Amino acid sequence: MTFKQFALDKRIIHAIKLAGYTTPTPIQSQSIAKILDGYDVMGLAQTGTGKTAAFTLPILQHLLKGPKQQLRALIIAPTRELAEQIHLTTVELGKGTNLRSLAIYGGVSKNSQISKLRKGVNIAIACPGRLLDLVGDKYIDLSNIEILVLDEADRMCDMGFLPDIRRIIKLLPSKRQTLCFAATMPDDIKRLTDKILKDPLRIQVGKMSPIKSVAHALYPVPTALKKSLLFAMLEQTPTGRVLIFTRTKYRARNLARDLAKRGYRAEALQGNMSQNKRQRAIDGFRGKKYDILVATDVASRGIDVLDISHVINYDIPDSTETYTHRIGRTGRANKTGEAFTFASTEDTRIVREIEQAMGSPIERRTLQDFQYGNFVPDKQFQGKYSKLKHSKPSRRRRRRRRSRIQSKKAGTRN
Ligand code: AMP
Repeated sequence: MTFKQFALDKRIIHAIKLAGYTTPTPIQSQSIAKILDGYDVMGLAQTGTGKTAAFTLPILQHLLKGPKQQLRALIIAPTRELAEQIHLTTVELGKGTNLRSLAIYGGVSKNSQISKLRKGVNIAIACPGRLLDLVGDKYIDLSNIEILVLDEADRMCDMGFLPDIRRIIKLLPSKRQTLCFAATMPDDIKRLTDKILKDPLRIQVGKMSPIKSVAHALYPVPTALKKSLLFAMLEQTPTGRVLIFTRTKYRARNLARDLAKRGYRAEALQGNMSQNKRQRAIDGFRGKKYDILVATDVASRGIDVLDISHVINYDIPDSTETYTHRIGRTGRANKTGEAFTFASTEDTRIVREIEQAMGSPIERRTLQDFQYGNFVPDKQFQGKYSKLKHSKPSRRRRRRRRSRIQSKKAGTRN
């Protein structure tokens, strides 16, 4: 399949070529023609599958016809980074079309966004809070929106944006096309989409498990040894761009600082940094000024840097969904990558959950010549993943439990 078989304007086809896309990814081949036909779409797709272009290309095509001065497409995204990223894709794929897009998010001054809005914008890519702000101040008129996209809708739910999204939807014309993309389908999202999508086409790309082009490994390690394990790993492993995840902003900041002290070109990406600093960190990572970015989950959303060779979960994520999102940062667009997860004994439960969601155990590895001290990594996380969660207790344990209950009953009777 090629992009030429979609009814896309030749300027768009040319921009696709310039962007270096040769064949549509599965989500693109399944959804572009349908979106062009006006269908509502519910796309279950992880990050890295090419979903941004899957909705951007038909939007650009649609907007080439009709009024040129109005805001006619609205894309809502959970984070500034993602909004900025979608905006960049829109600019790249809309090159030569004269369509204007704008990323709208908080944490920066409103003035430049307002002056761009005054000049005329056709596509707004917005985070909910700032969008409502500008609508309230009458800088944005949503009454001409023809296409609405909710991107990473599950994440928006997690981040508590659902009430804002409902408020925004009330301001839109009811006659519109609505596209919703999410990596997972929690109940909240299901309820929302049942309400706002009309006879949607449902597209699911891949299993709801991490992308296959990523190789996973689990490194059992006590918490106190994590930092030295990371340093030793970086010394031993040939890496390209490395994205490291920590649980908190402080851990991200401190770890990036420690890595820089050791001579690595490392930077942090976390929520306490100003928007400008965050953008500089992402740009520096993309432009190869930094080889290592140490990020928290929220700050990392929307980092669209191809060629991330390794994702290292320095702290294990708190849910299977976050694991999928994190490692979706490597192995993007058919490239391969490795995801290493450090896990200490407290992480046993989440390790099991991730393995159950993936449907297979994650390979356990130890780092050669690393001094684990008294810790015996091979003994950690033993047992078969499939037996872990709902396993029936052994006959001996069942017998013991029965006799405990019986002796308890006998005790109460006496
Ligand atoms: P996304 O899932 O939208 O975040 O896209 C992941 C990455 O894949 C982005 O860097 C895109 O530039 C790239 N990409 C999207 N579609 C294609 C395609 N058809 N061929 C090659 N790369 C693509």
